[in-house]
Amino acid sequence: MDGFSMRIPEAVCLGASLTLSGICFYLYRKSRTTVDKLDDAPHFPIDRNLNDILKVTPGACLQYVVIEGAVQPVGETLVSHFHKEITGVLQKYLLRQQRLVWNPFSRTWTDSEKITLQRMNEVPFVLVGSDQTAVKVLCPVQASGTHMEIIHEKFHQVNYSLGDIVGQYLTGEKLKGQLETEEMLKVGKTLTGVGELIMDTDGSLNLRPPSNSSHYFLSIMDFDTLKQEQKDMVLWWKMVAIASVVVGAAVVFSVGWRYYKHLKHRRNLEQARKEFERLTAEASGAPPAGAADDLVENACIICLSNQRNCILLDCGHVCCCFSCYQSLPRHLCPICRQDIRRVVPLYHV
Ligand SMILES: [Zn+2]
Ligand SMILES: [Zn+2]
Repeated sequence: MDGFSMRIPEAVCLGASLTLSGICFYLYRKSRTTVDKLDDAPHFPIDRNLNDILKVTPGACLQYVVIEGAVQPVGETLVSHFHKEITGVLQKYLLRQQRLVWNPFSRTWTDSEKITLQRMNEVPFVLVGSDQTAVKVLCPVQASGTHMEIIHEKFHQVNYSLGDIVGQYLTGEKLKGQLETEEMLKVGKTLTGVGELIMDTDGSLNLRPPSNSSHYFLSIMDFDTLKQEQKDMVLWWKMVAIASVVVGAAVVFSVGWRYYKHLKHRRNLEQARKEFERLTAEASGAPPAGAADDLVENACIICLSNQRNCILLDCGHVCCCFSCYQSLPRHLCPICRQDIRRVVPLYHV
């Protein structure tokens, strides 16, 4: 396509929006499937009936179910580093370094965070139902969902000397301090589990990550809140996918519009040339303006080689040749800058 062009920023923007919309659409489909599976998952109370149900289920396994029970350790418990009275079965200690980094493009300091220490502890635990029936939770670290709560949070600020402050401006990095947090799944907390429920040969019940690639969830929120969170996620990916498609479409439209304007301009030039030739032909018989002897005197002020052969209207200036007139970036008279509304050939009689 002659005259069709795409600028580098447009190509980059189009490529990025296509890639992003592809990724977002994939994540949207994935989260949509997760929500559909959560909708279909049966909800079982943890009690003796659950044993009976699993005994009559083929393979003694329910592929994707929702259960809810109180957290109880199987053996020893974990004790909080900061609150000795709090005990739990999962514990996460995090140390995050927070700093300000100078952004030379926006000319502002922006926040940046880096995890400098992460420690995870776990002990075996079960979910206990109303009649003390227990389901052991396997591989809790693999589960999604909020299953721990923050029980300690402290920010350790850094004190600077004058030398440090000078150093910060030279390096473009300011250390704000360290944020220390401890999260725990506390003993006695009600936990919602969504996963594969299986009865072992010894008759014990286990909740584990599903073998059919469904999402494994453990959450201290109730099931409806957990499902709503996933639905919000579906909506979010859908909106981002649509937004990136819109950006891509806008780039395609802008490139297409520019090409259309280019074609229209070329057609107008062609029409003007034909009109000029027609008028010249109508006046045939009359000698063309600018004979060879006065070529220099009547030379086009733009190319200085062709004869001046057109009258620019409405101003009436005779200053250039027709091909130079067509090459003008804007249709303004080169002498008086008035708009050129029409061009007619010049001939002497
Ligand atoms: Zn010229
Ligand atoms: Zn003029």
